[in-house]
Amino acid sequence: MPIDVVDGALPLIDLPPSRPRDPRPGISDASPQELLSWFSDHGEAAFRARQLADHVWSGRALSFDDIHTLPGPLREALGRAYRFSTLTDTEHRSADGGLTDKALHTLDDGRVVESVLMRYPARGPRRERTTLCVSSQAGCAVGCPFCATGELGLWRDLRTSEIIDQARYWRNELAAEGRRLTNIVFMGMGEPLLNADAVLSACGALSDSNRFGLGQRHITVSTSGVIPGIERLTGLRRQYKLAVSLHAARPELRDVLVPLNRRYPLHEVVAAATAYSSATGRRVTYEMVMIDGINDTQADASAAAALLRGRLAHVNLIPMNPVAHTPWRPSPPARVEAFAETLRAVGLHATIRRNRGVDIGAACGQLAAERAGEPTPAAVQRRRDSIERRSAAALVGAPDRLARPGDDTSAGDGA
Ligand code: SAH
Ligand code: SF4
Repeated sequence: MPIDVVDGALPLIDLPPSRPRDPRPGISDASPQELLSWFSDHGEAAFRARQLADHVWSGRALSFDDIHTLPGPLREALGRAYRFSTLTDTEHRSADGGLTDKALHTLDDGRVVESVLMRYPARGPRRERTTLCVSSQAGCAVGCPFCATGELGLWRDLRTSEIIDQARYWRNELAAEGRRLTNIVFMGMGEPLLNADAVLSACGALSDSNRFGLGQRHITVSTSGVIPGIERLTGLRRQYKLAVSLHAARPELRDVLVPLNRRYPLHEVVAAATAYSSATGRRVTYEMVMIDGINDTQADASAAAALLRGRLAHVNLIPMNPVAHTPWRPSPPARVEAFAETLRAVGLHATIRRNRGVDIGAACGQLAAERAGEPTPAAVQRRRDSIERRSAAALVGAPDRLARPGDDTSAGDGA
C-alpha cells in the first residue's frame, strides 16, 4: 500500500534491482496442503511430502540435492518448481563479544535485507534466550527520520518464504552451536503490517508445530501504527505479541517522527492496540526511541504517561542508535531514566533497552543502507535541514521543553 510521501521522507538512495526476480516460489512458501497436492500431482506418495517437510523445517540440508532419502528425479523436479532457500547469499558480522550477530542476506534480484540475532545468556532463573530480529520488506515507505531503513524508501515487499528463510538460516547456524532459536521479532527492515499478507502467513508457518514450531507468544510483530493491520491481527485471535512504535505521545511531534501518524493518528492507533490487548489478554509493548532534546522532555514524558495510563501496556525506551542522515543524538542516560520514572509514577511498566550491536550498525536497516552506497553530501544536508525544520515547528507546541527530565542529574553522562 503506498503511503503519502512527505517532505524529507524521499529516499536518499535509489537503486534499481541488479537482477530479475526468480519466478519460483520458495519451498517454505508452500503450505502442508500445497505440498501434498504437488506430490500427488507428480504421482508421489504422501509420505514423500512429509519426508521433504522434515528436511525443510528441521533438517540440516542446504539444497534439495542434500536430501538423499528422496529419489534423484524427484529432487530435480522439486528444484524446477521451488527454491530450497530464497536467500542467495548471506554475509555475517559479530559484535558485543559474540552476543550479537548480524546477517546481510542477498535476495534473487540482488536486493539486500538484514536480520540480527541477539543472544541473552541465562541469568538467575531466566533460561538462555536467542532472539532473531527479521526484516519484512526491503526498505520501508514510512520514512521515520531517525531510522536507517527510512532513508532507503521502499524497494519491495518480501514474500513469505523470504521472511521464513531468515529464521531457517539462523536455526541452522544455532543448531551448529547446539542452540535453539527461542524468539522472533519483526523489528528489522520494513513495516510488517504494510506487508501483512506475507507477514501473517510467515507468522502462521513459524508458529505451526508441524513447521517451524515456535510458540505464538514468542513472536512479536512491531508496527509504526498501521490500524487495518492491527485490526486484522486482533481478528486472528492469536497470541502474538504486538509492539507499537509510539516515539511521541504529542500528535504534532509524532507527525514528524512517524510520518504515518498523518494517516493513522496516535489516539486511534492506541485504541486499536488496546482492542488487541482486550481481545487477546496480551500486554502491548510501546517502543520509544529516545532522541536528545526532541522527544525526551518532561512534556513528552507526561504526555506518554497520560496516554498510556491504566492500559495493559509496557513501555520500552530505546536510546537512539545514531544514523548518518540525521542531526540527532541519543538521549543521555539520566534523561531516559527520568522519563521511565514519570511513566512508573502512574503505574506503567517501563524498561530501558540497551542498544545491541551499535558497532556493526545493527540499528534497523543501517548495514543495508551503508551497502546501498553513499548518498551525496548535498542530499544528506537537505534531509538534515528538513528534519530540523519540521521538528523545530513541532517542538513549538511544548513550551516547557527546555525543562528536560533528568537535566539536574545528567551532568557527567557525556552526552
Ligand atoms: N517498521 C516497524 C518495525 C521495524 S522498526 C516499526 O517501526 O515498528 C523496529 C524498531 O526499530 C522500531 O521500534 C524503530 O523505532 C526502531 N529503530 C529504528 N531506527 C532506530 C534507531 N536509529 N535507533 C534505535 N531504534 C531504532
Ligand atoms: Fe519503517 Fe519502522 Fe524504520 Fe519507521 S522505524 S522507517 S516504520 S522500519
